[in-house]
Amino acid sequence: MVLARCAPIGQEPFWWVNNAGAVAGDDGVVIVDTCATEQRTRRFLEAVAEATRDAPVRMAVNTHQHGDHAYGNSLLPDHTVIFGHEAMRDAQLADPLIDGCPPIWTPVPDWGNVTRRVPAVAFRSELTLHSGRRRIELRHPGHAAHTAGDVVARLPEERVLFAGDLLFNGLTPMVLMGSLEGALKSLDWRAGFQAEHVVPGHGPLAGRSDLPEILARHEQVCRRARWCPPDGMQAGIGGHEASLQQGTGMMRRPGPAPPWGRAPHRARRRIQTGTRLYPASAWTAQEHECVEIHGIIRLIQPSGVTTVVP
Ligand SMILES: [Zn+2]
Repeated sequence: MVLARCAPIGQEPFWWVNNAGAVAGDDGVVIVDTCATEQRTRRFLEAVAEATRDAPVRMAVNTHQHGDHAYGNSLLPDHTVIFGHEAMRDAQLADPLIDGCPPIWTPVPDWGNVTRRVPAVAFRSELTLHSGRRRIELRHPGHAAHTAGDVVARLPEERVLFAGDLLFNGLTPMVLMGSLEGALKSLDWRAGFQAEHVVPGHGPLAGRSDLPEILARHEQVCRRARWCPPDGMQAGIGGHEASLQQGTGMMRRPGPAPPWGRAPHRARRRIQTGTRLYPASAWTAQEHECVEIHGIIRLIQPSGVTTVVP
């Protein structure tokens, strides 16, 4: 059984609300990503336990470093072995937000009892897990894209792909901490997994036929961001202006007139400076503006998981 927990997309903007999944084999469960808060992670793990009749959670994978996919790691059983890319592990060790979320996210999420727990096994390019008869291939694109340590989890036999934040379905993709060039370079790689069922990092489940349009959307956003002048945010010109006209927004559904976040500006700046982000002290007026644009955090609490394949 392959399960996915997909957070619903409402009309409101949201942060810290991700998708996660679980693969139940003959001898236990492999979790693909946890959640940001104690409450959400517990609900997710309870739903998995219910669906799998309390099968033991033997392994877990983090698709990347971001807290919405990894802070709940500490709520996994002690015996669960966690896997992740080595850059993801390094970034999680240095992640300041779990210790002190900048007040730009107001109200700051109620993390609950989550503590830093990083993967015990770090890899560089690929690794294959076996859960009973199920084969779970972990693959890194070979370069930074959404982040430096992105990993997808592919089940070749079941034709399922857990894409992490390398795919946003119905939401504008983010390249806050990765590479805009890498995001563009990995488009074909992302398209090549031949999956019938795609679990994006955010947004609803996608089918194989949805993928070309989703990836075309990613390409469109990234190309526009690349074109954006580095000072566009301050000047309110260029890519920012164009994006406003385009009516796209980071972490929001494409639709009429939601404003554009400054993710592309940041991505552009990173390309120019190579800046590695971020200690909390590095948050700038632009980040404040971004959060103001996209609104306060809204922690949606859906229950249950969806069966992707039985
Ligand atoms: Zn992410």
